[in-house]
Amino acid sequence: MANEKVTALFSTLHSSVEILQKELDMSYLESLVETGENILDGKEPRIIDGKPSEEAAKELRKLYATVSFDEMSAEEIRQAVQLAILKGTKEDYLQPNHQMTPDAIGLLMVYLIRTVFKERKESVKILDPAVGTANLLSVVYNQLRSDGLQVSAEGIDNDDLLLSIASVNIDLQGLEDIRLTHQDALGNLLVEPSDLVISDLPVGYYPLDTNAAKFETSFEEGKSYSHYLFIEQGLTYLKNDGFAFFIVPANLFQMDESKTLLSYIQKVAYFQGFIQLPKEFFKNEQSRKAILMLQKKGAQAQQAKEVLLAVAPDFRERESLQRFIAEVVDWKEKNLK
Ligand code: SAM
Repeated sequence: MANEKVTALFSTLHSSVEILQKELDMSYLESLVETGENILDGKEPRIIDGKPSEEAAKELRKLYATVSFDEMSAEEIRQAVQLAILKGTKEDYLQPNHQMTPDAIGLLMVYLIRTVFKERKESVKILDPAVGTANLLSVVYNQLRSDGLQVSAEGIDNDDLLLSIASVNIDLQGLEDIRLTHQDALGNLLVEPSDLVISDLPVGYYPLDTNAAKFETSFEEGKSYSHYLFIEQGLTYLKNDGFAFFIVPANLFQMDESKTLLSYIQKVAYFQGFIQLPKEFFKNEQSRKAILMLQKKGAQAQQAKEVLLAVAPDFRERESLQRFIAEVVDWKEKNLK
């Protein structure tokens, strides 16, 4: 449940969005970006060609004056922004491939990362090549920071509106050491290899055949699957021994084409786990997702004797969650170096 500070900030963001939508004739999410930029710009509404009107600007200033980030943690600010993004997703009818990763999935990923990864290092560099609104990235970032790790991150997305939301989201939370880049993540990336790759992958066909042909997981004929190419790209920019956590369709390995993907994965990495997400999180079985856990080959890595194949419980069932975490810890002790 959101606390009072979270609901108050959400309500301020939402009221500002409503004013800007009317005044500037923009969508919910565009107005949310404008709101964030106004707050970051000394709580002063940007006026271009007399818009928003002086009267609306006065209203906005009054709203922004109620915002006090000093008394809020990054995580509380993230939660308020996330509520506004959720509202915008519904109002603007954002297609599923562009939708924010829900907190429940992000937190589950954090449990997995904590178990397999945390005690290995004091600092961690994360890459999310499909960063979207940066909700998933900032859930992971904030949780690992609160564990005392030094965290830096790279986020990439080719959608400029989503990347603007990500930028405002990160700046409002005051997160440092996160670099966002607007580009096709399947092109050449100007990023150093990361310790950890996380991503809620866009699923479907990748439109650029010439570029796809550079990947081993592309198809010889017809359009290739972007989620396959993203997995290959993620592994390319991962350090040896590093872990990748991809949110993928739960039926990923039930398709005939998946042999190409599996043989590529086995060439460069170890297939360590496949965790089905609770079915209650999804509208139907077709849209159900799973977390694919891979580890890049290296001196500190080995193939798990038993791949972690599990179904994650619903977060609201605390006992099942505790049992699940204990199972993962036990699996880690027996299977990873
Ligand atoms: N984790 C994100 C969040 O919390 O908001 C949501 C990711 S969303 C499911 C998938 C993202 O992939 C979208 O933001 C979309 O714009 C991005 N995407 C799709 N194709 C891309 C490409 N070729 N290069 C970079 N990003 C891409």
